[in-house]
Amino acid sequence: MHALFGKTLPELTELMAGLGQKPYRARQVFEALYKQRVGLVEDVTTLSQELRDRLIAEGFAIGLPEIAQTAKSVDGTERYLMRMADGETVETVWMPDGDGGERGDGSEAAEEESAEVVVAEEAVDGGYWSRRGNGRDRSNFGTLAEQGFRRATICISSQVGCAVNCQFCLTAKLGIKRNLTAGEIAGQVAAVLNRHKIQIGKDRINLVFMGMGEPFLNYEQFMQSVRVLVEGIGIPESRMTVSTSGILPGIEAFAKETMRPKLALSLNASNDVVRERIMPITRKWNIAALLEAVQKIPLRTREWVTFEYVLLGEVNDQPEHAREVLELLDGIRAKVNLIVWNPGPGIDYHQPKPADVAVFQKMLIEGGIATYIRRPRGRDIYAACGQLKRTVVEEKPQLVEISAAS
Ligand code: SAH
Ligand code: SF4
Repeated sequence: MHALFGKTLPELTELMAGLGQKPYRARQVFEALYKQRVGLVEDVTTLSQELRDRLIAEGFAIGLPEIAQTAKSVDGTERYLMRMADGETVETVWMPDGDGGERGDGSEAAEEESAEVVVAEEAVDGGYWSRRGNGRDRSNFGTLAEQGFRRATICISSQVGCAVNCQFCLTAKLGIKRNLTAGEIAGQVAAVLNRHKIQIGKDRINLVFMGMGEPFLNYEQFMQSVRVLVEGIGIPESRMTVSTSGILPGIEAFAKETMRPKLALSLNASNDVVRERIMPITRKWNIAALLEAVQKIPLRTREWVTFEYVLLGEVNDQPEHAREVLELLDGIRAKVNLIVWNPGPGIDYHQPKPADVAVFQKMLIEGGIATYIRRPRGRDIYAACGQLKRTVVEEKPQLVEISAAS
């Protein structure tokens, strides 16, 4: 099977040229793949029947991942088992939200939105919207708004498993099976958008590359998926955040990209001794090297680097650690996302005490760093941070609906 999904317009143009077709045919396929998000070559009705038959005969398919299983949390979060063409599976998470606070999806969208509101109000003062006779947020009146949500965030995987071996993470237990292709990464988004009948341009969608795998160990495919998601699907890169455990060459390459998501770095410890223990990769690239590389990223207006910090009871959650974090981040345009560790079977840590979490956050805020506590999403269905692993691996996928509420 040759997957069409994931190809850029130039790649499709080349493919069509190889079949003796004019460039406008590539544009038609591009539109069908990313704007109409069709699932079958047969349904690309802008192409002649003859051309569709030929594509199918030559082994071409759209190649979207298939939602093989669904679990729904009481908080509205949905976790999907996504099945790739070769039968490998990864997990993808859908997090709809209606409030304007720090919602726990990792996207930092609330802040961005409040900035947009200011801009919109200025525009009203300037008469633009008044002239249009419409003062409401025009970017959200699609399917989501009808369901009472302001936005949704999709958390996508970049690899089958992960090689990084962080001691507190369930995905690490899988080891690494293989990289996902750009089409498989962006395809998770298309599959979820189709499921919820989302209209890009009307509904507000954020993406976080925070699922299974380390995006910067699959750098080229990850970046190609970003291009497809921006240029094809139509989600601006400013609404995307990629999280890395700290792959130095990846951060250095990322700093040079012109079209890129925002960055989140999984700091998770306040010194190298603790970090080496919980994230052995620190032996290869230590905190100082990572912070130096992060500071070379040219930030855009209103852009901050997010530092994720998983709080592990008594390991990294004490006041002395908070003081060290403040020293580390001094002078960096940083904000901190505290993540209360989510437990998993066979992982020997414990959750921090609520009082310790509160003190940690207060100390960072008083030290001048915007610090949020990421609300756990979908913990009841194992969809929260660090809980993604393939729950079921089957020969034949079944469409099973599991509802935590029932
Ligand atoms: N591999 C990338 C992105 C996926 S993990 C990375 O590590 O950054 C996304 C976030 O979840 C990371 O910040 C990671 O430190 C955190 N995480 C992993 N396991 C967790 C757990 N059990 N509880 C809470 N957060 C966890
Ligand atoms: Fe991999 Fe991220 Fe889990 Fe570490 S935290 S093992 S990098 S998925």
